[in-house]
Amino acid sequence: MAAIIDGKAEATAIRESLAERIRARTATGARAPGLVTILVGEDPASQVYVGRKQRESKEVGMLSELVTLPANSPQSELIACIESYNARMDIDGILVQLPLPKGFDEAAAITAIDPSKDVDGLHPLNQGALFTGSPGIRPCTPISCMHLIGTTGVDPHGLHAVVVGRSALVGKPVAMLLLERDATVVLCHSRTSDLRAQVGAADIVVAACGVPELVQGEWIKEGAVVIDVGINRVNGKLIGDVEFAEAEKRAAYITPVPGGVGPMTVAMLLENTLAACVARERAQEGV
Ligand code: NDP
Repeated sequence: MAAIIDGKAEATAIRESLAERIRARTATGARAPGLVTILVGEDPASQVYVGRKQRESKEVGMLSELVTLPANSPQSELIACIESYNARMDIDGILVQLPLPKGFDEAAAITAIDPSKDVDGLHPLNQGALFTGSPGIRPCTPISCMHLIGTTGVDPHGLHAVVVGRSALVGKPVAMLLLERDATVVLCHSRTSDLRAQVGAADIVVAACGVPELVQGEWIKEGAVVIDVGINRVNGKLIGDVEFAEAEKRAAYITPVPGGVGPMTVAMLLENTLAACVARERAQEGV
């Protein structure tokens, strides 16, 4: 039976550590890191996510602002809003809640964010930095996956890792991070011919396809580490992209849904915001 990787407990520990580090900063007269979340429209799921980001950023002692724009705002208003926060010295992180309502150009909005404040790690410069292995802000969900793998004590070095899903938000960056840690990585997608065989060969499986229980438990290799990124609402219940009940019998470590990767993503957003604050201060001091 697999050990459950408790993302909720891990996220709580990270937030406590962040609160402590921010207290230590402000005690010396340094300013608190600042995060702004920009929400366009009234998508209920986005409202929940934004609410959580607001609450948790305030709880760790950050300056936290929320901008809401109507769904029918022109793109130029969103860009002007982002630019106004690019110019604010007390703001270190700018997060545009995705997806944007129909009609908005998401890529243009993300590209408008100052890369040093792109705490979601989605700006092309930060994505390019990940690809080339240079310093930059890494995207939150992929670093959450890596952090959770880290808690198991399993070192990806030399292991066979299979990522199911190739989105720019999750699958591709997770694959790059696993590669950076010397895993041999296979990146699967909807056209992969034998997903079962691919998953069956994996020491580490990261499932991020958005298809409920696509990865069947009996596919999992005995002793594998299974990270389930999926969040699917089925009959009012949240389930992952992995068939948990069966996978749990074969894996050595597995994340639950909910309570695995989900809670970690906001904690990592806050880590990225503090790191951006420190990096920006250093750049201003010319260190
Ligand atoms: P996308 O829809 O952008 O990408 C899904 C990927 O899965 C695509 O690459 C697609 O392949 C692949 N895929 C779809 N069907 C299959 C299939 N039958 N077999 C193999 N691959 C398949 O999703 P995201 O990456 O944005 O999100 C993935 C999941 O993670 C979702 O459930 C989402 O809710 C969740 N999520 C969770 C987060 C968290 O904080 N825990 C954060 C972000 C996302 P192709 O490219 O060929 O179409």
